[in-house]
Amino acid sequence: MEELRSASYEAALQELADIKAFAKTDDIQPWDVSYWSERMRESQFDLNDEALRPYFPLPRVLEGLFGLAERLFGITIAAADGQAPVWHKDVRYFAVSDAVTKAAIAYFYLDPYSRPAEKRGGAWMDECIVRAKQGDTVRLPVAYLVCNQSPPIANPDNQDNKPSLMTFLEVETLFHEFGHGLQHMLTQVNYAGAAGINNVEWDAVELPSQFMENWCYERDTLFGMAKHYQTGEPLPEAEYQKLLAARHFMTGSAILRQVNFGWLDMVLHSQYQPGGEETVWQVRDRLAATTTILKPLPEDASLCSFGHIFAGGYAAGYYSYFWAEVLSADAFAAFEAVGLDQSEQISATGHRFRETVLALGGSRHPMDVFKAFRGREPSTEALLRHRGLIAA
Ligand SMILES: [Zn+2]
Repeated sequence: MEELRSASYEAALQELADIKAFAKTDDIQPWDVSYWSERMRESQFDLNDEALRPYFPLPRVLEGLFGLAERLFGITIAAADGQAPVWHKDVRYFAVSDAVTKAAIAYFYLDPYSRPAEKRGGAWMDECIVRAKQGDTVRLPVAYLVCNQSPPIANPDNQDNKPSLMTFLEVETLFHEFGHGLQHMLTQVNYAGAAGINNVEWDAVELPSQFMENWCYERDTLFGMAKHYQTGEPLPEAEYQKLLAARHFMTGSAILRQVNFGWLDMVLHSQYQPGGEETVWQVRDRLAATTTILKPLPEDASLCSFGHIFAGGYAAGYYSYFWAEVLSADAFAAFEAVGLDQSEQISATGHRFRETVLALGGSRHPMDVFKAFRGREPSTEALLRHRGLIAA
């Protein structure tokens, strides 16, 4: 917590100064920040989510994603439509096998498109069948990957058929859910209660998913799939640079906010004594002194509606959101360390990731799993470097 706090505080201070300069006022209140930071983001990056869609047609994105999975983990993904019943004509079915032995490993459904009338919003991975030993055989896992992106548009009049064109955020979301799916599908645990994502602690379960998101920003992976659906022309370099820069936007404030929430939650649950020397509000203000830039107003009662740390189920566990980013950034850094263009070392590192993080599921403590992959405990260095807070 302190490592993240001290690395982000000065940056967050500067970001507030930037907002004041942009808004041409010194009077920025807590409720002004998100409005002005959004205006500032628009003016700095000229980002238009819609404009990038033609460069991300779903079939090409899937090719890129499956190619990456083969390159990193030595698995082959092939269409297996028709081998299992589906609940809608747009749902696809895929088979995952080992690239070397050709042995079947797992299967997954992909239900990519939004159907507002009958399907809830958002994106998720879920278990259809969990790997388990049954007598002498092993039942192979099957996953659901569900997204809500725009469907293809068929135009019978002029043959101008458009595939599903994705925003960059939708691409990241697909990679994210696929990462969860990999942990479910590549598990080697034969007991359902500890196979795949089962029994994996909250603060580690987002590791494979956020790890996969990192690859959307990796040059070879991105340019391998980002090609205009009509002309085949690659994503313009300037747009790529904007995506990278936008990733760092207001990053000090974003980290500091997570540190403030996570730390406050932990202190309230582990140290706070009802009727003791400090009230809940004094605890809040004490932590706010070093973990917020705009201090809480006296009438700020938002702690009373911080549902995550009460009935929301994240009591003393709010930190896990950000801890998973520490883990996933550090895991990605193992690939950076061998050189992202070194295909042999990348596949060796990917193989190790498959054998540890993806294979061991909830059968071992997540710290042991991480150490088996990384050879040491996690470090915050990679995350701070990726966010531009320490030098690369
Ligand atoms: Zn997730």
